[in-house]
Amino acid sequence: IITIILLIGTTKAGMIYEGGDPGDFDFYLFVEQWIYSFCDTQSCLPGKEREAFTIHGLWPNNNDGSYPSFCKGQPFDVDEIADIEPQLDTIWPSLTGPNPDFWAHEWSKHGTCSITGPLADLHDYFFATVHIYQTYNITGGLAQFNILPSDNATYSAPSVVDALSKQFGVTPLIQCTGNRLVTVAFCLTKDLKLMSCPALNGWSCSGNVILPAT
Ligand code: 5GP
Repeated sequence: IITIILLIGTTKAGMIYEGGDPGDFDFYLFVEQWIYSFCDTQSCLPGKEREAFTIHGLWPNNNDGSYPSFCKGQPFDVDEIADIEPQLDTIWPSLTGPNPDFWAHEWSKHGTCSITGPLADLHDYFFATVHIYQTYNITGGLAQFNILPSDNATYSAPSVVDALSKQFGVTPLIQCTGNRLVTVAFCLTKDLKLMSCPALNGWSCSGNVILPAT
């Protein structure tokens, strides 16, 4: 009976589990959304739409596809990130609601579980995520391979992955909504070095895609 309980306890492939211990995961997913693709299917607030990849979040993940969420830890406090708030407003906006509500959600769900190694607290989590965004410029990397925002130009999904792999030296993951490229993710080790992403459920995109400009 104990063996069965242990097996159930560790069979978490593809699952979200709540209330784990901070730092108990395999790698980070750094996730960005392409605004015009996201806002094609969601009702975004007026004034939020522009041609840009912006941050969705930095998420701890496991090799089996499961991930911890809502770990024990510091509650969200926007005052802790007052020094980078203007940057966050530009590069980590909520497209559907108030920006601090989105940051609070990302912190509670993913940030609390991310605290390990170089990330000691809430400020480190947001600061590091901004730094990753600035270091690996996805829009610029795609442009190097002539993958540019346009409502007409189409690119094969593998060519998008290939361009980013060549530019950054590691394999990313992408997601599409219909034929719109909507999400790009890079994987990082727990000491925040880029690594190739493993194949993960829910991360697939095939055929031809666009990077819409409207
Ligand atoms: P996740 O739970 O995948 O980390 O974050 C998604 C949640 O964040 C959504 O349920 C949504 O309510 C909230 N959210 C607020 N603003 C945004 C946004 O701009 N993009 C996305 N993807 N989610 C947002």
